[in-house]
Amino acid sequence: MPYRGRFAPSPSGLLHFGSLISALASFLDTKAHIDANNNQGTWLIRIEDIDPPREQPGASAAILTSLEAFGLHWDEEVLYQSQQTELYRHLLDDLQQNNLSYYCQCSRADVKALGGIYQGHCRSLDKPQSNSAIRLINRFGHYQFNDLIQNETLNKTQCDKALAEEDFIIHRKDGLFAYQLAVVHDDIFQGITHVIRGCDLLEPTARQLSLFSSLNKSPPIYGHVPLAVTSNGYKLSKQNKAPAIDNDQPQPALIAALEFLGQQPPPALLQENVIDIIKWATDNWLRGNVPKLKEINIE
Ligand code: GLU
Ligand code: ZN
Repeated sequence: MPYRGRFAPSPSGLLHFGSLISALASFLDTKAHIDANNNQGTWLIRIEDIDPPREQPGASAAILTSLEAFGLHWDEEVLYQSQQTELYRHLLDDLQQNNLSYYCQCSRADVKALGGIYQGHCRSLDKPQSNSAIRLINRFGHYQFNDLIQNETLNKTQCDKALAEEDFIIHRKDGLFAYQLAVVHDDIFQGITHVIRGCDLLEPTARQLSLFSSLNKSPPIYGHVPLAVTSNGYKLSKQNKAPAIDNDQPQPALIAALEFLGQQPPPALLQENVIDIIKWATDNWLRGNVPKLKEINIE
């Protein structure tokens, strides 16, 4: 089977050490895969720009520039989610026509007051469309799944069952398409076979699996790498203003990211250029050496 991997950043900020780890892991897992015809996997970039209020102007272009500076070259045209909205609309309509979704007017505070997990309050009510979110009728709740990296007991990775079974939002009250809907649509659209990303997306995986099942599509295979956190337990993220990585000096960050991923680069590699570092990393990628941890403290 041809391997198709992807990195799907949201342009809410620049590439930082945390997102470099995800990009690198996904790239290496794709490129280390050699199929029966002796071809490497295909690595794609998808810019998840469907949340304009959280977008930082110029971030999409800057992320692409950084990926190139770090030797992470993609194989097909970049896909921008902002250009896919008509397709998301079709998918939403299909789900509605098949009675797999419903309108909900509950506020976040309402859900919190009801225990924090949405219990399908609006499922059987005839809610008007205006000022409503749309929720998926979640008939699956795949709270246990195979994860290429994190598998725990019984060779399955576990997520919170109640969260996995929740009727989650696929279209937001403010009119924007929800991440879960767009990500599943585009993983199908782009023929993605393997998703390697950070453990901050473990819980959403359960939801995405439900959506794949609702659509009768087979999901990609998932693997979640540990999240880089600071000493006070915060994840490195754009929201937390993690410092951008330095495009002019990619070597130290690349080596640090490889060490973070358990790849043990030889010390002399630091003196090499980016192309040689990436070549070494691809030739020597051992997915099994990535720590089976949800987080790793990097300070
Ligand atoms: N766009 C999401 C983010 O930057 C990641 C999506 C994904 O990898 O599924 O957090
Ligand atoms: Zn509701």
